[in-house]
Amino acid sequence: MRNDPARIRLQIDLSQPPEIPEAGIARVNELLRSGWLHRYGETLGDASDVSLLEDDFANLVGVKYCVAANSCGSTLFLALICSGVTPGDKVLMNAFTLAPVPGAVAHAGAEHVLVEITPNLTIDFADLEQKALSTGAKVLLLSHMRGHSPDMNALMALTDRLGITVIEDCAHTMGAFWAGQPSGSFGKVGCFSVQAYKHVNGGEGGLLVTNDEDIAARAILYSGSYMLYGQHRRRPSDGVFARWKDVTPNYSMRMSNLVAAIVRPQLDILSERARIWNDRYDRLAAGLGRIARVGLPVRPQAEAYVQSSIQFTVHGLDEPAFRNFMEGCRSRGVFLKWFGHREATGYTSLSEHWRFLKSAHTPPQTNSILDRLCDMRIPLSLSVADCDSIASIIMEELAVVTANF
Ligand SMILES: *Cc1c(COP(=O)(O)O)cnc(C)c1O
Repeated sequence: MRNDPARIRLQIDLSQPPEIPEAGIARVNELLRSGWLHRYGETLGDASDVSLLEDDFANLVGVKYCVAANSCGSTLFLALICSGVTPGDKVLMNAFTLAPVPGAVAHAGAEHVLVEITPNLTIDFADLEQKALSTGAKVLLLSHMRGHSPDMNALMALTDRLGITVIEDCAHTMGAFWAGQPSGSFGKVGCFSVQAYKHVNGGEGGLLVTNDEDIAARAILYSGSYMLYGQHRRRPSDGVFARWKDVTPNYSMRMSNLVAAIVRPQLDILSERARIWNDRYDRLAAGLGRIARVGLPVRPQAEAYVQSSIQFTVHGLDEPAFRNFMEGCRSRGVFLKWFGHREATGYTSLSEHWRFLKSAHTPPQTNSILDRLCDMRIPLSLSVADCDSIASIIMEELAVVTANF
C-alpha cells in the first residue's frame, strides 16, 4: 500500500504564514523611504503607525488601553509585573501551553504552578481551585492554547471568588469571542501576538490590552516610552503617569512602525480570515470525526473560535505504531505535530522539558491527554478539497498502522 502510485499526497505547505496586504507593503515602503521607523520623536504627535495600531486594536477588543511591544512574550512579562507579580510569587498556568508562557513567568522571577486541563483542552476548574487554595497563588496566566477557551463567565466567577487576577494569553484567540465578548477582555490584561504564524502576520510583535489605568501607564513606561508617553493615543491621564514615571525602568520592548504598518491592514480582514479558517476547521473536523480511534474536543455553543489549527487525539496505538502513523502522514505532506513527544522538538513541548521550573513535570491528567494529541496548522491557502485529502490520508495511514498492529 505504501508504494501505491494512486496514493494522494498533499501539495501545499501547511506552515505557510498569512499574506501581507498590498496596503501594508506600500506603507512599509513609504516608511523606509522616510526613515521614520521608531514610534517616538521629540517633535512628533500621537499619529505614529504604532500609536494608530494601538487605537485600532483597543477598539477591536473593546477596551480602553492598548500597548504595543516587540513580542507577545514581552507583553506576558509586562502583564505579570504590572499586575504586581514580584520575584518569588506563585503564578498559576494551564499546563497545556507553549514555551514563551513559562518563559514569561521565569522572566518575572515568579514560580509556576501548573494546572491540569480537561479532555476538551481547557483549564480544569476543580484543579485550579485546589491548586489556588493549596499554594496561595493570586495570579492566573491563562493560555487560550490553540484557540480553546474555557467557559469564561464561569472562570471569572471562580477567580473572583478566589481573589485571583486573570491574565489572558490570546496568542491563538485574536478575533475570537466567548458568549459575544471578545477574548482578551475578560481578564485584567489580555496579551496578543502578531508573530508570523498567528492570526495577523507582523513578523514579530505583541499587543497588551487592559481597562486598568495603572497597568496601562506602567506597561507603556516599562515598554520603553522614555518621557514620550504623551505620544500614545490610548493612554491614561498624566496624573496616572505621575505616579509611575520616575520609578519605572525602561526595558526597551517597543514595536517598530514597520510592524504596525503591516499589521493594521490585516485587522480589517481579520473576520474574513476567521471565516476561512473556521470553514476549513469544520470541514477537517467533520472528516476526522468519521474515523475510528480519532477524538476531537467538544466545542461549546458560546465559543466563537478562530481556528487556525486543529487538534485531535488518536487512541489505541502503542508508541511505535503512533510514531509510524505520524511518519506515514508526513511522507504524504501532512505534517502533524505531537504534544506528547518525549523530547522537545520544533514548537511543541511538555512542561517536563522546562527544566528551569522548580518542579518540571507534566501533571498526570494533562500528560495522558497530551500523550496522544496531534496538532496541525491550517494555512489560509488550504482548499476545501485539501481538507478532504487530509482526512483521507489520516484515515489511510491509520489503517496501515492498525493492520500491522
Ligand atoms: C506564540 C505564542 C506566544 C508568544 O508569542 P510571541 O509573539 O512569539 O512571543 C505565547 N503563547 C502562545 C500560546 C503562543 O502560541
